[in-house]
Amino acid sequence: MGSPPRPDGVWDVVILGGGPAGLTCAIYSCRGRFSTLLLERMMPGGQVVLNDIIENYPGFPEGLHGYELADRFHRHAQRFGAQIENVEVTGVDTSARPFRVEVASNESRLARSILISTGSRPRRLGVPGEKEFLAKGVSYCATCDGPLFGDKHLMVVGGGDTALEEALFLANLASKVTVVHRREQFRGQRILQERALAHPKIEFLLSQVVSEIVGEESVRAARVRQVVTQEESEVPVDGIFIAVGSSPQTDFLPRELRRDGAGFIETDADLMTSVRGIFAAGDVRAGAYRQIAFSVGDGALAYRSIFRYLEEEPA
Ligand code: NAP
Repeated sequence: MGSPPRPDGVWDVVILGGGPAGLTCAIYSCRGRFSTLLLERMMPGGQVVLNDIIENYPGFPEGLHGYELADRFHRHAQRFGAQIENVEVTGVDTSARPFRVEVASNESRLARSILISTGSRPRRLGVPGEKEFLAKGVSYCATCDGPLFGDKHLMVVGGGDTALEEALFLANLASKVTVVHRREQFRGQRILQERALAHPKIEFLLSQVVSEIVGEESVRAARVRQVVTQEESEVPVDGIFIAVGSSPQTDFLPRELRRDGAGFIETDADLMTSVRGIFAAGDVRAGAYRQIAFSVGDGALAYRSIFRYLEEEPA
């Protein structure tokens, strides 16, 4: 069992979000014997759960499934007594100490310090048809929805790690995968580029953008525009997987927490936000390199800063 909250219900550390950064901080915080509450809307693990195979997390040379790594992080935090509650956080009141973390059903949790590690969610492409055909052929998660499209012609939009990984995953299920990317160069890792370019079922439309998703009951085709010539064509596809980056999950946070233009939380080098006693780690942090290994490092660094903060602050 971890340390319980104070008799007045105040926790030393309340962690918002149970991805790699949050769970790592929870492990360290419990071992430091701070009472630690982690609030997670869904299952712990964050976006890691959605990865098919993770090949670049050290210590697993054969790679492992995202859900297995997420489960290991979760069990590790539980082993040291992290209290994990399945609840959606709706707000944070920073006007008094302890902080008040508001959760669904008008309840709240009291915190001496807070770590925000709510991660990010897939960014929308913003083209006509995207909203209308959501779950009718449009998806943001190949591992979740790919199996619904066995032997079909699929499209992946984007040129980063996610797009290349999703194309490779889908190519095992689909008859053909067309990757549409707005430039000639990919942003994703070289090893993924090499595999995708060599895959017999993956073809590329480079320097092209999707301008519209069309269909009737479900997706029938994508309208694609060449960025130089502006020439438009229609590519018949049964499903479109959008992988054009991510947006931070910060909508519920108060304005005092400074964010960059895209909504990611700004911190100092110790991961303290613009509000003393509130820290941010992992994908939600401005300037983060969105990799599991970095999120784990962020979680550990956040703990060190929280520890120092709690030592200085009167309980
Ligand atoms: P990303 O690296 O930001 O790549 C987004 C891609 O979408 C880019 O190629 C970008 O084009 C394109 N794009 C963005 N907006 C667009 C638009 N409006 N229309 C058309 N294309 C658009 O995002 P990500 O691939 O999701 O990766 C996010 C982070 O997670 C990265 O740090 C990545 O390294 C990490 N990640 C790592 C792994 C792994 O290590 N195995 C797996 C998945 C993700 P431009 O290139 O022209 O900007």
